[in-house]
Amino acid sequence: MKVLVAARISEEGIKKLKERYEVEIIYNPEESELVEKIKDFDGLVVRSKPKVTKKVIEAGKNLKVIGRAGVGLDNIDLEAAKERGIKVVNSPKASSESVAELVFALALALARKITKADTALRNKKWIKKELMGIELSGKTVGIIGYGRIGAHVAKIASGFGMKCIAYDVIINEELAKKYGVIYKSLEEVLKESDIITLHVPLIPQTKHMIGKEQFKIMKNTAILVNASRGGTIDEEALYDALKNNEIYGACLDVFENEPPLDSPLLKLDNIVFTQHLGASTKEAQRKAGIMIAEEIMKIL
Ligand code: NAD
Repeated sequence: MKVLVAARISEEGIKKLKERYEVEIIYNPEESELVEKIKDFDGLVVRSKPKVTKKVIEAGKNLKVIGRAGVGLDNIDLEAAKERGIKVVNSPKASSESVAELVFALALALARKITKADTALRNKKWIKKELMGIELSGKTVGIIGYGRIGAHVAKIASGFGMKCIAYDVIINEELAKKYGVIYKSLEEVLKESDIITLHVPLIPQTKHMIGKEQFKIMKNTAILVNASRGGTIDEEALYDALKNNEIYGACLDVFENEPPLDSPLLKLDNIVFTQHLGASTKEAQRKAGIMIAEEIMKIL
């Protein structure tokens, strides 16, 4: 059988595929190129690119599986794949540790004013007196969406000596017990947490789930972290909350529109940014390559 790898995945992933299949690699082909190529292949591997359109899927006469190394499936026409009985698989577990670690990198950067200290020193300013921070130890972290990443956050938080509470629409008592997490209502989580971190998918029910009303409930010392998906937070309401010091600050890895080059949030100083880097570690990418190869093997 033949597998077409159409996006850069780890060498280990490619090696695994080559043990079983004839593998051809073309990175990020145009749609027309992919339509032409796909005819002979049984499997296709992509990342967030290239787009796997209806045209591509219809041209894949032998195609049985599309593997997305990573999480989001928005570049794949799932309806068209379903119609043709083509399985779509992904590797959502690969980046859980990396995203959870980034949550703490961001929270600490804000809590200890690391980015401010760094920028000031590069500008030859020694502003130690303005850089008083806060400790994580003894604080409460509120995890909204206690799934794969949420659980890793709880695991790390316990190492910091933090108390963990969570809100989720699905209760998994076993997973909660494992990391000493207590489920609460959304309102309780917002009210009691010193650090609130979002780990829900972006679906209609979670769009703007943190908005004007929710900021009112939070402590004015709270830190809000979002490394899930832009759109779960209402960015206009966040801007107002930060501007009016309704919360201590925010940390964003994801945005409603990426890249957010014209966002007014960029002008505020009680906020720390990264650039949708949750899964951008060597280890997460290595795992994504291996896991997607394994998923493809299960189908073929
Ligand atoms: P997961 O499916 O394991 O966990 C999501 C949790 O959210 C589940 O427990 C689910 O029950 C819960 N949930 C769903 N709807 C909810 C609602 N309305 N209210 C409360 N909880 C709700 O997913 P995961 O692997 O932990 O990923 C979480 C998020 O992180 C996703 O949005 C994913 O896209 C994102 N992510 C971001 C990056 C990044 O680069 N920043 C990388 C990987 C994943």
